[in-house]
Amino acid sequence: MWGLADYLAQDVFAVGESGRTMTRALFSGAKTMGKNSKIEWTHHTFNPWWGCIKVSPACKHCYAEMWARRVGMQLWGAGSDRRFFSDAHWLQPTRWNREAQQAGERRRVFCASMADVFENRRDLDAARARLWPIIEATPNLDWLLLTKRPQHIARLAPWRNEWPRNVWLGTTAETQRWANERIPRLLEQRAAIHFASCEPLLGSLDLTPWLGAPAAENTRLNWVIAGGESGSAKARPMNPEWVTDLRDQCEDARVPFHFKQWGHWGPTPQRAGRDTVTFVDRTGHVLSLAKLGKHATGRVFDGHTWDGFPRAA
Ligand code: SF4
Repeated sequence: MWGLADYLAQDVFAVGESGRTMTRALFSGAKTMGKNSKIEWTHHTFNPWWGCIKVSPACKHCYAEMWARRVGMQLWGAGSDRRFFSDAHWLQPTRWNREAQQAGERRRVFCASMADVFENRRDLDAARARLWPIIEATPNLDWLLLTKRPQHIARLAPWRNEWPRNVWLGTTAETQRWANERIPRLLEQRAAIHFASCEPLLGSLDLTPWLGAPAAENTRLNWVIAGGESGSAKARPMNPEWVTDLRDQCEDARVPFHFKQWGHWGPTPQRAGRDTVTFVDRTGHVLSLAKLGKHATGRVFDGHTWDGFPRAA
């Protein structure tokens, strides 16, 4: 487990041109060989199944549901089946682990991009039971288990106080309400690394109660990801001030911060017009966002890319 002293002792922080400290990518593998996921902060994605149920505002424009529909599958909702996979699919992590070992580096696996691994349904138990030993048997991979259901982790995961060191346990915090509900439940688990994914960011967040020096080992967030919504023409815009606040909270607490993307809405010089929205920050500075699409809006914020990562345990 990394504490504050560990972060300070390592090459985690650099001073940005703006004068503020700037988190620097500790793990540059996202730009190296061995990556086959389009998600910025992971090398691989692994789905033990496809399908889910919407649980909070972050799910409103669930890209996974849209993607499944696009390929002709109805997998969302309590009454829908899930999609399960062949043995060949389940062999992928073993291969990735071998490749990471041969390359002499750790690689991250996001589990799951098309489901929530802690969805509480009995027909998912067999796939979950197949997943846990694979995680334990792939020590060169860091498994990012991101859930909107941290209240089910204790019941559905086989580890309680003895989590494998290669599990990074995360939860989504799109608004303060969901941060308040989910993060304390997440931190009950003794995982090596805890993280919050504030994407799609839908409101201002104060994460400081969970960013400071830990009261006990493993009881604080080690990483924060933020990003705007993408994948839908109905995507909701993200107030840049929400990102500034999160970035500053992380820097003050020496917690790596990762700005994943602006999303569908991004900064534009145009002040008004169709498909633009204007925000005025606390200093009176005006910033307009327009529906430009994820690829055009990019991931530069306040003049920098923010590629903070926690160091693998
Ligand atoms: S929890 Fe994730 S996969 Fe499930 S509906 Fe919500 S956004 Fe989609």
